[in-house]
Formats: sequence, structure tokens, C-alpha cells
Amino acid sequence: MTPIPTDLAEDYAVLLSVLDEVEDTGGTLPCRAVGLAASAAWLAQDEDEQRAAARACRECDALAACRWYVEAHPAEQGVLGGIVEAERRGRRGRPRRRTEAA
Ligand code: SF4
Repeated sequence: MTPIPTDLAEDYAVLLSVLDEVEDTGGTLPCRAVGLAASAAWLAQDEDEQRAAARACRECDALAACRWYVEAHPAEQGVLGGIVEAERRGRRGRPRRRTEAA
């Protein structure tokens, strides 16, 4: 098993804590609010689905934190911080697979 880089794990923990705080205080987190089936759009292979998810990210109260994370880790899979995979390719190769939306 490939070890997870420490800074990636630490940064992801920071992001998750921000998301939990937003959720706990009643903020808007579109990728968590839309339900399991719809939230799959954030991890869809189809670029049109990803772009629809990225548009929904504009309403997110954690957009700045999520964008900070994905700009530090552009190889992550799926939509993060309102940015689709195709926009991040070429920066650092293929996206790393994730198993769930942010
Ligand atoms: S991917 Fe990030 S910016 Fe988009 S809705 Fe989820 S937490 Fe918010």
C-alpha cells in the first residue's frame, strides 16, 4: 500500500475540520447536502457532470478552504473548490482517486 504523504493527510484533516464546522453551524455544503446519488457528481467521470458540481460549489461556505486544499493537492480526484479535474490536469499529472466527495 502506498503511504499517504504527511502534508496531504494533514491538509485533508484541516479541510475536513473546516467542512465539519461549516456543517455544524448550518452553513451550505452543496457536495454534502445533495444526497448520496447526486453527490456522486463531484466524483463523476463525465466532465459535464463535474462542471455542474463545480457550479454548485459557488454556493459553498467552505469554498475558500476547499480551493486552498485543491490548489495544494491538484492531483486529487473529482471536483474540489469549484475546479474540475480537467482544469487541474497538466499541473501535476493524473488525479489521485478518492472514494467520497469532500
Ligand atoms: S467540493 Fe469543496 S467547494 Fe465544492 S461543495 Fe464540496 S466542500 Fe464545497
